[in-house]
Amino acid sequence: MIVAIYSTRPWDETYLCEANTNHDLRFLEAKLDHTTTPLATGAAAVCVFVNDLVDRQVIEDLAQLGMRFLALRSAGFNHVDLAAAAEYGITVVRVPAYSPHAVAEHTLALLLSLNRNIHRAHNRVREGNFRLDGLLGRDLIGKTVGVVGTGRIGQVVATIFQGFGMNVIAHDPYPNDVITDMGIPYVSLPELFAQSDVITLHCPLTPETCRLIDAEAIAQMERRPMLINTSRGALIDTTAVIEGLKSGQIGSLAIDVYEEEGDLFFEDLSNTVIQDDVFSRLLTFPNVLVTGHQAFFTEEAVREIAEVTIENLDRLEANEPTGTEVTVDLVG
Ligand code: NAD
Repeated sequence: MIVAIYSTRPWDETYLCEANTNHDLRFLEAKLDHTTTPLATGAAAVCVFVNDLVDRQVIEDLAQLGMRFLALRSAGFNHVDLAAAAEYGITVVRVPAYSPHAVAEHTLALLLSLNRNIHRAHNRVREGNFRLDGLLGRDLIGKTVGVVGTGRIGQVVATIFQGFGMNVIAHDPYPNDVITDMGIPYVSLPELFAQSDVITLHCPLTPETCRLIDAEAIAQMERRPMLINTSRGALIDTTAVIEGLKSGQIGSLAIDVYEEEGDLFFEDLSNTVIQDDVFSRLLTFPNVLVTGHQAFFTEEAVREIAEVTIENLDRLEANEPTGTEVTVDLVG
């Protein structure tokens, strides 16, 4: 089967070629959007990553090219118009469960770096400045961390933080028995906001979770918490969070995702002027740490994404169920 692979980066090519069975993989550096659909001409499947645009118009254009399958190299599928895909008979599959440890461990890396100001210390020491002013952190032991979303990633995060001696509390409309067995209480969101010293987001982006962290939520935070988002950018209202950082209501912020990241992340923009003023404002805070959607980026996770993607394509070609199909029902 001919597969048009959008947003290809070197690691995609390496690991997909390694996992490939007999597909004709066409690697495209371009992002999928309204202008790049013709690059998929002749392919039966399109393979995309998190910042490719798969809206109704793109789906219509792909359907006109005879596309039958859409393979996501991600767990999240909020960037796909699933209703349009169903309407045009395009089967959407994903990689539901690659190493949750990759994202959980990156969450931990962000927390530790931000708490102890490692990002600032690194720059200072390289410039010969060994003063400690501004680098004061806090012991994590005994602090309360609120985990929002206790699925695959949230569960690993909760386990790691419990290992640090932190008091873990959680919120999820679908409680997980493993979490309950660990003695972690499920609380309402207002309770979680009020009690947490650290708030970490691990729920999917859905209409219900969009802007979960808005001005109202921030007003309920009582302990100047550190807010960490490695899930999806639009879970937080960035403008409201900037206000929260300015007023001190939010103690610090670490993000691996940003609601408008599609125009920024995965590109080298070091020679251009960034046009996004909200993002640029974030970068001015000493207590904000940003990584560019790299939480998934470990050898193990990237290999697993490639292997599951090829397995998905094998099954689709053989007209077999993949078990990873994404349908509109999954959103509800
Ligand atoms: P999962 O489906 O295993 O778990 C998600 C959990 O969120 C579920 O338990 C679900 O019940 C819960 N949830 C749903 N609605 C909720 C709500 N309103 N409030 C609180 N919890 C809610 O997914 P996962 O594998 O743990 O991944 C979580 C998210 O992490 C993904 O949706 C994706 O957006 C993100 N992610 C980011 C990266 C990255 O590189 N930064 C990589 C992979 C996944």
